[in-house]
Amino acid sequence: MHNMGLRIGVLAIQGDYEAHAAAFAEIGVTTRPVKTLAELSAVSALVLPGGESTTMLRLLRRDGFDVALRDFVRTRPIFATCAGCILLAREVLNPRQESFAALDLTIERNAYGRQNDSTILPVETSLPGGPLEAVFIRAPRILSAGPEVETLASREGFPVLVRQGKILAATFHPELATDRRVHRLFLEIAAAEQK
Ligand code: GLN
Repeated sequence: MHNMGLRIGVLAIQGDYEAHAAAFAEIGVTTRPVKTLAELSAVSALVLPGGESTTMLRLLRRDGFDVALRDFVRTRPIFATCAGCILLAREVLNPRQESFAALDLTIERNAYGRQNDSTILPVETSLPGGPLEAVFIRAPRILSAGPEVETLASREGFPVLVRQGKILAATFHPELATDRRVHRLFLEIAAAEQK
């Protein structure tokens, strides 16, 4: 695998952005950290990592970065994991929080309770190759998804990996497991967009 002319950025403001960079590097793809408006305008696709969505929102609100990002997530391929998925959801609960509303989801933050908040589980997926090992960390739960959202994996009947057009989003952390199918799928989405 090589970069295929893709300029993939990883939002590097807060959270586990280095794990995403390492996951892409494993499959031979170089990514660039995105912290500034100039860096954002130099990439063609973007990863929104896991972390803490409230903190990310706060840190994004500067120099028009949030305004540019709002436009970017509507027009370019995006791979969002956990907190990143919360940032994109149309409606965020527990507690209610602002979002970029680019993905037609209602999502509940920290939905698994304190005792059960971090876990590794195999989840059923329609991706070829059988169940995915999914690492959940203070994970949100997708309570409902609109008609344009395709569910690619689920846990106990709730979607955990979804796609809406050129947005791919997971409530778990594919970058922390060893299976690279989800990262490869994002490359396919981004490459198709490039043509
Ligand atoms: N609990 C975090 C939030 O609400 C998400 C956790 C994660 O990204 N692992 O933003």
